[in-house]
Amino acid sequence: MDLEPIGVCPYHGFYRGERCPKCKRVGMHIMNGEEADMLSRRMTAALRHSPEKFGLSMDKHGWVKISELASALRRIRKLKWVKPTHIIAVALTDPKGRYHVNPDKGLIRASYGHTIEIDISDYPDASEYKYLYYPATEEEVDIILISGLKPSERSLIHLSTTLEQAISAGRVHTEDPIILTIDAKSAMNDGVVIKKASPYLCIAKEIPSRYINILGKASEIERVIQ
Ligand SMILES: [Zn+2]
Repeated sequence: MDLEPIGVCPYHGFYRGERCPKCKRVGMHIMNGEEADMLSRRMTAALRHSPEKFGLSMDKHGWVKISELASALRRIRKLKWVKPTHIIAVALTDPKGRYHVNPDKGLIRASYGHTIEIDISDYPDASEYKYLYYPATEEEVDIILISGLKPSERSLIHLSTTLEQAISAGRVHTEDPIILTIDAKSAMNDGVVIKKASPYLCIAKEIPSRYINILGKASEIERVIQ
């Protein structure tokens, strides 16, 4: 559940929960959990899927002006109260790392989940990861092993940085996903572009099949890990 309130500590900045997790002080209240959830849903809708519907101008890397996003969202009746601070507070405390913020330039973008096309060349490289993981359904596996990974409903492929993350992402679609291992290091050495989107996710346009192997079913992997 995401529905924790957001506050700001004078020493440690924005946080989710009742108190600053670092110093345990009760900071200034910014918004309640329902408000944060409602705002975040509209932010991802605008930044991942339909900036034009919100009247936003977006650059090719997916960035929009925080001030423009705030005024666009204020046109929604339930979000008349939104100021740039609220957007920054939601973005910086997002538990999944859904947003990138550039405070110096006053810009924000969705870090992943886009259905619109964006240029990911300004994302940080995923060079810290040797292996990445992808959860597939039984029906998908054979095709992936032959033709590689290609985006389907989203514009980019999402690769998990940990096994646990891949398993829980896969369980959204199927009870016992098959976890594939991506030899990210070799792929990047060979020039395949893989970028880091959040602490949990990397993104790529395409992963050729020669870097993909079957690790096993989620249920079997969990038995080994535990
Ligand atoms: Zn604090």
